[in-house]
Amino acid sequence: MSDILEQTYEKYMQYVNPGLAQLMKFADFGVEMHAEGVFVYDHTGRAYLDFLGGYGTFALGHRHPKVVEAVKAQLDRMPLSSKVFFSALVANFCEALAQVLPGDLRYSFLCNSGTEAVEGALKIARKFTGKHKFIATLGGYHGKSMGSLSATGREQYRQPFYPLVPGFVHVPFGDIDAVAQEMDEDTAGIIVEPIQGEGGIFLPPDDYLPKLRELCTKRNALLIVDEVQTGLGRTGTMFAVEHWGVVPDIITLAKALGGGVVPSGAFSSTPQIWERAFGDNPLIHTSTFGGNPLACAAGIATLQVLQEENLPARAAQRGEQLISGLSAVQQQYPDVVTSVRGKGLMVGVEFALEDVAKLVIGGMTRRGVIAAYTLNNPRVIRFEPPLIVSAEQIDTAVSVFAEALEESVKGLKSLGLL
Ligand SMILES: *Cc1c(COP(=O)(O)O)cnc(C)c1O
Repeated sequence: MSDILEQTYEKYMQYVNPGLAQLMKFADFGVEMHAEGVFVYDHTGRAYLDFLGGYGTFALGHRHPKVVEAVKAQLDRMPLSSKVFFSALVANFCEALAQVLPGDLRYSFLCNSGTEAVEGALKIARKFTGKHKFIATLGGYHGKSMGSLSATGREQYRQPFYPLVPGFVHVPFGDIDAVAQEMDEDTAGIIVEPIQGEGGIFLPPDDYLPKLRELCTKRNALLIVDEVQTGLGRTGTMFAVEHWGVVPDIITLAKALGGGVVPSGAFSSTPQIWERAFGDNPLIHTSTFGGNPLACAAGIATLQVLQEENLPARAAQRGEQLISGLSAVQQQYPDVVTSVRGKGLMVGVEFALEDVAKLVIGGMTRRGVIAAYTLNNPRVIRFEPPLIVSAEQIDTAVSVFAEALEESVKGLKSLGLL
């Protein structure tokens, strides 16, 4: 092992998280040194095509020049807010968000991460409705702080922390009848991802979100759509709900919102909901760093770039190319690869066996393409490259996937494991 890798690994063992250190060493990852566009460079100077894209963070790629420039300029003026003066950046960022948000969503609360966006969304849903129960989905992912974890639908991450926030029930994703059954007078809202990300890239039936919308309206419950991962062009439209023509009551955003340069999150809603949430006390929900000038500068530039470079449409196009490429590979190994699915550049490949997923990720990394598991489903690997990815880079990733798959299948067969 080289010096920097050895030292970094040792410090992870001593000061960070020994289990994580061993996991990463086992997966043979080096030390990241710098990044540019679709590429991440490790300590040996080797370039990797980033087809994980920070789980959706790097929609614009790494270090998009317009975002970097806006953030650098702001760094020299005022990086953090005094918190007492008006901030023109907050005003401009929230306005820019309102211009792209679906339907009558207009107001935004700015925070720093996805889990914080979800916490805020749950709080204002409670305050607006005066009710406390939430319906969430099995396999859904909303974050790991106490409130959002209560919505997250995987026991492995929840069980050690019981009791969580009371009032949450989980129903199968895509099952409208199960939601209808659980909904009662005390239901404040339902929280759902339009496409489950960490759950394993699952798309709902086409009538699911429209029916959720209908049901929530009828029962005076709020539809909270978590677009932390799907939002801002990832699935081929600015917001994934647009595929189904649905306008939620509250939308959460994070990952791509800081342009891959500054951490940033937000939840947005309608004037009517905002009035009841913040009307009697504008300080009922606050954040010291939320809406800080660096994050706002990054966010404004990000929304500009998404539109100028037509990134949602490009994601739709490249996504079709990626899915058809991966599907062609799947047809050669129908027993090993059970499904290729996704929308835009949010694509999952499901394997019959967890071991194959592991070997394929390893094989791809060795060949210079980064992909990863979904947190809640280790049989699914996912591809979420920057939306600026080129057609050639998609082709490269598909052939690397094919090679890694062939090698993994051969290896397992020779060991009699397949
Ligand atoms: C990643 C993610 C979160 C949590 O975001 P963090 O910034 O990691 O707290 C919440 N919801 C969804 C859908 C996500 O993909």
